[in-house]
Amino acid sequence: MKVLKFGGTSVANAENISKVIKILENESKKHNIAVVVSALGGTTDLLIEAGNLATNKDEKYIDVFQQIANRHILAVEELIKDSKKQSVLKQVNAQLEELKQILQGLYLINEFSNKTVDKIVSFGELLSSYIISEALQQTLKSATLKDSRELIITDSTFTNAVVKTKETSANISTFFNNNKDKVVVLPGFVSRNKNNDTTTLGRGGSDYTAALIASATKAEVLEIWTDVSGMYTANPKLVKQASPIREISYEEAMELSHFGAKVLYPPTVQPALQKNIPILIKNTFAPAEDGTLITKKNKNKSQPVKGISHIENIALLTLEGNGMVGIPGFSKRLFSALSTNHINVVLITQASSEHSICVGIYSADAKKAKHVVDEEFVYEISKKKIKPLMVEESLAIVAVVGDNMKSHQGISGRMFRALGKNNVNVRAIAQGASERNISAVISNKDIKKALTALHNRFFEKQVKILNLFIVGVGNVGAILLDQIKKQQDHLSTNLLLNIRVVGISNSKKMIFDEEGIDLNSWQAQLQKGKKRTHQSFFNTVKKFNLSNSIFLDVTANEDIANTYKDYLKESISVIACNKIACSSKYSDYQKLKDLSRRYNASFLFETNVGAGLPIINTLNNLINSGDRITSIQAVLSGSLNFIFNNFNDEHSFHDIVKQAQEEGYTEPDPRIDLSGIDVARKILILAREAGYKLDLKDIKNKTFLPKASLKAKTVDDFYNTLKTEALHFSELYKSAKTNNCQLKYVAEFNNGKASVRLKEIDKEHPFYNLEGKDNIVLFFTERYTEQPLIIKGAGAGAEVTASGLFGDIITLGRN
Ligand code: ADP
Ligand code: ASP
Ligand code: MG
Repeated sequence: MKVLKFGGTSVANAENISKVIKILENESKKHNIAVVVSALGGTTDLLIEAGNLATNKDEKYIDVFQQIANRHILAVEELIKDSKKQSVLKQVNAQLEELKQILQGLYLINEFSNKTVDKIVSFGELLSSYIISEALQQTLKSATLKDSRELIITDSTFTNAVVKTKETSANISTFFNNNKDKVVVLPGFVSRNKNNDTTTLGRGGSDYTAALIASATKAEVLEIWTDVSGMYTANPKLVKQASPIREISYEEAMELSHFGAKVLYPPTVQPALQKNIPILIKNTFAPAEDGTLITKKNKNKSQPVKGISHIENIALLTLEGNGMVGIPGFSKRLFSALSTNHINVVLITQASSEHSICVGIYSADAKKAKHVVDEEFVYEISKKKIKPLMVEESLAIVAVVGDNMKSHQGISGRMFRALGKNNVNVRAIAQGASERNISAVISNKDIKKALTALHNRFFEKQVKILNLFIVGVGNVGAILLDQIKKQQDHLSTNLLLNIRVVGISNSKKMIFDEEGIDLNSWQAQLQKGKKRTHQSFFNTVKKFNLSNSIFLDVTANEDIANTYKDYLKESISVIACNKIACSSKYSDYQKLKDLSRRYNASFLFETNVGAGLPIINTLNNLINSGDRITSIQAVLSGSLNFIFNNFNDEHSFHDIVKQAQEEGYTEPDPRIDLSGIDVARKILILAREAGYKLDLKDIKNKTFLPKASLKAKTVDDFYNTLKTEALHFSELYKSAKTNNCQLKYVAEFNNGKASVRLKEIDKEHPFYNLEGKDNIVLFFTERYTEQPLIIKGAGAGAEVTASGLFGDIITLGRN
């Protein structure tokens, strides 16, 4: 014989029940079958809700009752042929009437005992099994209905009854031995005590009903038919990449279900294991798929971790005090106080030491636990030997499970590294004595991130997902998005990096998509985006709480630079081409560096100096490998280089500056370039990265601009002075020419002192031939003494700046 159990979703409505009937028609050709059914999906919750409403004198209970009634009547209407419809409806209505009367009773007496809870919820399975058996009989004449309450006997722990296994097993085997019908339908979940009161086996208990029947009849297989294709490597509703586990041992399945894999009710495994009956989990909506086979064997020894499960809403109880040291019996008293009050201990942590014990329980029990434990230890608390019980809530457990973990080293190291890297704070740790599971207590809010990170670590080709949030999509930002789009495939095959742009914003609007924004149409999407503020953008990024999140600042905005600290504090890495943060007050710059270290989040800004040229990266490599910078000489302004390369006898200074602006080489306000402030910021950043504590005011800035230009109030005024002071500028040019020199705007750093100024450069100097808008940097160090380390190339322009940002993203991805 085979036992098949169909869960709530599988029998949620007439359409689904028809699918179940098809499966049963097929199976019954080959085997005798017992069919255990749940209530129509969601009915149990509705029944409890109706009961609670009625007890609280809320007349809405009638609406809820009506909802329950309608669902069942509709199922009959759609499933049962006309000839029998009336008689089936009559039966169903009679049961509904009985339910209604109990609810009315609750409304009057306002007392909802667990005994009544069981009475009420039993209607779910009793109705579903009746309707399904009638529907089945239309094609399978031999199908009958048997009330499980006549077979399964329990104690009187209503809502979570304990089965009297001997008696139950005898009842079941006697019934099936004498029964000649090929197909027997039974309600799951329901049972009775010695007094014939209805009891139930706990939420999700229909699985257990089926296991009891399978065990007593020594069935060849117990099939659990549900809405997913087996037991998955993690809850498929939360982890997209999860996949069904093909084969798994009883112990592993038990462990996964104990730690929250709801697909199998934990007590289900034991009866099957005792009789060595295989359990097969199958999908009602995809019956051709393999599903998961649970047996004694444990194949696939090379795979130490089989699955990851989690439980939400856990509370951590800590009992501690010096009075506990050396005195035996404290933990015994704690556990017995909890167990006599039916409080389930889900986890006991290794933090238990002589003067503290720490256990995890369900949050729903936390209040009661606090009360009973403080009561138990009232004397010791009054004598200050121990502290009142500490209760922490809003926690969750994630557990990594596998039979072969014990023979593989380093699993826990990998687990906690994956959590740590994603800034998932671990409150407590427990390892089962069997070494079949390692569990960590974390915050509820981190569940999804933790599961994804662990799943990625143990089950996926190590493709790393980077989640980007980009602010500023002008010229550079737009080109960067285009570069990312074109390079995505290459990165995922060759570097195992999956770059996902999750958020994009300009100064007005923002858009988000957790799966990654379609980069073919981001402009159109952004136009329709939500209004943005710095705060709303930050809040959204924070709420996503994704692993490997990166905030990318492609603006020159000071307010945005001021938000980096908020991101870093959330362990969100920051990549900036905006120079403001690194060239602001030294203490602010240092603070960002500290936050980056403390919160394990990178802060990269290669494009602050020389656009895409690897200047900061090279400097960092020198310093990290133990070298020391003695001097830096550099031309760091692409715009000034362009201007001084093109300005001569024929073209006036004014015209060249205009041209540079029109071609996009200068800032919108050219004074930022011509005043030297931009170059000063860059040399400041290099000096700081070289380990020197400098501020902008420490950089000597000898301007080449005449007084009139410096006094100009507006950009237009400024341009006018370039005309009126033409003589001043042509003098600069003439002097250089007479000396056979080129004019270069040079930044220098020598032993702790930095300056920026216009210089005449002679033919012998490496700066002399610097063309167009190129940059050049010479690093003199303790190792590079005679010949400097030279970096030279295009130091401005949107393409190369975008590519510098891209480089930072990849650096971060490969960390
Ligand atoms: P049924 O009503 O059929 O008994 P349940 O809702 O009790 O179904 O169990 C199936 C659900 O269990 C799935 O839809 C899924 O959301 C959840 N689940 C949690 N963890 C896992 C897991 N590791 N594998 C499969 N499903 C899981
Ligand atoms: N109907 C019950 C519940 O929802 C039992 C079950 O479906 O297994 O918990
Ligand atoms: Mg279930």
